[in-house]
Amino acid sequence: MSKLALLGGEATVREQYADMFKWPIITPEIEQAVLQELRRGTMSNIDATEKFEAAFAAWQGVKYALAHPNGTSALIAAMFALGVGTGDEVILPSITYWASGLQLYSLGATPVFAETQMDTLCLDPKDLERVIGPRTKAIIVVHYLGHPADMDGIMKVAKKHKLRVIEDVSHAQGGLYKGKMLGTFGDVAGMSLMSGKSFAIGEGGMLTTDDREVYERALAWGHYERNNPDYITSPQLMPLVGLPLGGVKNRLNQLASVMGLEQLKVYDEQAAEIRRAMNRFWDLLEGTPGIRAHRVDERTGSTMAGWYAAHGLYVPEELGGLSVTRFCDAVTAEGVESVYPGANKPLHTHALMQTADLYHDGKPTRIRFAERDVRELDKHLPVSEAIPTRTYFTPWFKHDRPEIIERYAEAFRKVCTSYRDLLKDDPGNSPGLGAWYFAKAK
Ligand SMILES: *Cc1c(COP(=O)(O)O)cnc(C)c1O
Repeated sequence: MSKLALLGGEATVREQYADMFKWPIITPEIEQAVLQELRRGTMSNIDATEKFEAAFAAWQGVKYALAHPNGTSALIAAMFALGVGTGDEVILPSITYWASGLQLYSLGATPVFAETQMDTLCLDPKDLERVIGPRTKAIIVVHYLGHPADMDGIMKVAKKHKLRVIEDVSHAQGGLYKGKMLGTFGDVAGMSLMSGKSFAIGEGGMLTTDDREVYERALAWGHYERNNPDYITSPQLMPLVGLPLGGVKNRLNQLASVMGLEQLKVYDEQAAEIRRAMNRFWDLLEGTPGIRAHRVDERTGSTMAGWYAAHGLYVPEELGGLSVTRFCDAVTAEGVESVYPGANKPLHTHALMQTADLYHDGKPTRIRFAERDVRELDKHLPVSEAIPTRTYFTPWFKHDRPEIIERYAEAFRKVCTSYRDLLKDDPGNSPGLGAWYFAKAK
């Protein structure tokens, strides 16, 4: 084995393959559709958006899809639609992007964190009953980094305790769990469609559901011009038509809607190519000490969707305790760009979840309407707290090109097999690994 590049040897990946990573892929059809909409001058209409919603609902296999300007707004609409309100507790994983649940504060509700599984990086159904209380209303499930959550386990607990379920599909559009589309297990799904995500339309979000009541409540919340009897049938909502119940405006820019319509036509094919590439990469690394794939066995009928923000799992015990920081530095030196330690930081460790008093209640916002101090429950999240030192970004290939992927795999193999050379000057992990949000790709 040749000398590690970090220690003066030659790098394994010596060329830049920008095209392998570029996303989204802008087809001539997308360009044409956006230009046409731009020239039509109807960006603030809803006709193209309604077409996009109908096509998205058909693709997702649900009755209703409601477009939003971003995933954050789709998810708070989903929370309101399920009736989440003052004093309600809502369970979510601590390892996720903030917009899976920070909106709860705006509804007077209380976020409660349950543990994450080390292999799937998704909510651990075995930890749910520990945190369920008399005021628990709902569970927010995140199919994190494209990996489907354990929906059998989660839905079983939800049914037993009569809890509503929101799926945050921002990382996993088009993915399957045991053959069934993600986003179709819970009462409602919300997701981001912003440019960094797998399903990318600029800025945008989508709410999907089979439940008419949920759809109408989401619509009444933030789609003022559709909050009228043409759309609303619910006797509870009828007296309130005309104004948006949330005091917010959730209309999507139609440039994004027409991009979404075109994206739908090519997305499944593009995502399948990504999965072929990523599975090839991890097949090449099977059995390499210190690293494990974050992926599913596709023979179970589950998939990694568009493999959003691809990550690997790190097992330092197999590499003499080598820090993930040093490991990533060594892989980077081999010519692999964008390999950093960690994923999202555990949300419960932020001051916003512990001490912040945002609304002058004289007590932390987290518990302002709560009947118990749910911050006590945060003390039992060891896996969530370990995840930053046991995960790292890997290349996120968009094309299945075997020779190039083999080169990248070789860089990882080289570092893992030569780990002893790295132990001597290992400074250890820098504190506070991980990020509140992932930096934009350049
Ligand atoms: C990106 C993201 C969101 C929010 O979507 P925006 O479109 O950025 O508002 C919500 N949840 C998760 C898990 C995300 O990654």
